[in-house]
Amino acid sequence: MKNRPYRIHHKRPPQKTESFESIEETLKKLQQPGSKGSDYRERSLKIHGLICAKCGREFDEKTRHLLTVHHKDGNHLNNPPDGSNWENLCVYCHDDEHSRELLGKYLIEGKE
Ligand SMILES: [Zn+2]
Ligand SMILES: [Zn+2]
Repeated sequence: MKNRPYRIHHKRPPQKTESFESIEETLKKLQQPGSKGSDYRERSLKIHGLICAKCGREFDEKTRHLLTVHHKDGNHLNNPPDGSNWENLCVYCHDDEHSRELLGKYLIEGKE
């Protein structure tokens, strides 16, 4: 009969503070869905004006939903406050700009 050493659990208890924090963060994000995303759109329209950077078509408060924000470097997370990565494009020019890419993304984006 082998005398097995009795094994005590070596597992550390899960770090409660850590998981608590991540839940907090997740909740924060859930409470502000896409707030940053819609924010850059408004800022870009303010900075660059209600005009398409490509075709020069002008928009007003009623037609501004046709004006979308294009990210020059294609990175939607790159939103410098001075608007240097943004270009206001009408949906037609934006479509043209992305003709080589998947079209679904910005169409959803534009509706918000
Ligand atoms: Zn245009
Ligand atoms: Zn774009």
